[in-house]
Amino acid sequence: MSENTRRNVERIPFTVNGRTYTPPDEPVVVICVDGSEPAYHEEALAAGRMPWLAGLRASGAISDWPALSAMPALTNPNNLSIATGHPPRVHGISGNYILDPDTGEEVLMNDKRFLRVPTIFAVANAVGYDVAVVTAKDKLRRLLGAGLVESGPSLEGSGDFVEPVRRGICFSAEYADSATERTNGIGDVLELVGRPLADVYSADLSEFVLAAGVKILADRRPDLMYLSLTDYIQHKHAPGSEAANDFYGMLDHWAQQLHDLGAVVVITADHGMSAKTDESGRARVIFVQEEVERVLGQEGIARVILPITDPYTVHHGALGSFASVYLTADADAALVGSALGQLTGIQAVLTRADASERYGLPADRIGDLVVLAEEGYALGKNAAWHDLSGLDAPLRSHGALGELRIPFIINRPLPRPADLPVAHLGDIGEGPTACVYNYDAFWMATTALSRSGDSVGSVRG
Ligand code: ZN
Ligand code: ZN
Repeated sequence: MSENTRRNVERIPFTVNGRTYTPPDEPVVVICVDGSEPAYHEEALAAGRMPWLAGLRASGAISDWPALSAMPALTNPNNLSIATGHPPRVHGISGNYILDPDTGEEVLMNDKRFLRVPTIFAVANAVGYDVAVVTAKDKLRRLLGAGLVESGPSLEGSGDFVEPVRRGICFSAEYADSATERTNGIGDVLELVGRPLADVYSADLSEFVLAAGVKILADRRPDLMYLSLTDYIQHKHAPGSEAANDFYGMLDHWAQQLHDLGAVVVITADHGMSAKTDESGRARVIFVQEEVERVLGQEGIARVILPITDPYTVHHGALGSFASVYLTADADAALVGSALGQLTGIQAVLTRADASERYGLPADRIGDLVVLAEEGYALGKNAAWHDLSGLDAPLRSHGALGELRIPFIINRPLPRPADLPVAHLGDIGEGPTACVYNYDAFWMATTALSRSGDSVGSVRG
């Protein structure tokens, strides 16, 4: 099967989860810059560290819109939103970590069995488009590869898992040394990319993803490519800091190469990032389980789930801005909700039904109450539960309304969509009204671009 015969030259539209995608003539590359609060690239631009993006802005050949991520502002839910074109209520991935309602156990949500619908990648691949997905961390590879390189939710929406009819490419930089043609659709990745295996706690891990993307684009010209980075730098370094500017300079370098190879390039993020510290740099943490037990005067009456929890504790020590509270049947939820809502640093407490309705969350995978911290605060379980030994910088984290703002940049000029009806989201902080979600990325770069008539031969010729 040669590269040329794999390309779907007909550019036929395909429909996934109710949205129809019409790929343009050029390859489409979506880069998810993990934790990319918009101030990061604005500061790097101001410091002269992103010459390609600066040139693109000066030329006007760009779409650069205020955008929002889905709730919760966490990695797994938003990567799957970008991959499926919908918020978590549709795809089912509500966190990095959940209380599994079927077993009553707390588990990592890295398992594809939690995924309820097929991805854009799976369907594009099935209809003959060449699709490549590269993630920084392996936890995402296991979700995003469903239906592309291994079994995934059936394309008809029955919920059954089926094997893909043909295999695309999906691997992680974390395990690039063990990628094989059989399991990942590509082997010898270190040799291909010409870089050594990167440390999982490093900016190099993201750079490996971008370098691999450039190499794969040059070699195979896949129709659709998704490159998902890690927020290791953003958790430790504020916008405008030297390490952050270095990172965005690196991003600019690789994005330019994708652009020069003729790709439609979208730069967006899974969520933003904010400082969770006081003036002296001390973390401002509300321990939700302790607070609930104090209000009800009883230990063990609540179970608090922090969906940011993942195996990479060095990033954040499982302290984010979003918590699910599961109460025993006899606990007074209204009392708990109003008491928590009065605490300094709590932005909102919602019932399961309200949270699901307002924020597009799957009701069966969130708690009886959903607690959201303000931008400058983090939520914990109880003081003893968190391992903060890996935290060697003032806490920066994400999860709720203060971290919904993200970049949305395309290297093609498109008509600006209408403002999103976001009044229902409540206070998402200062800034312009957003007109897209990150999960519109593939639709904007395919259908919206194809409709605009701008796609043919603009760079490729
Ligand atoms: Zn993330
Ligand atoms: Zn993070």
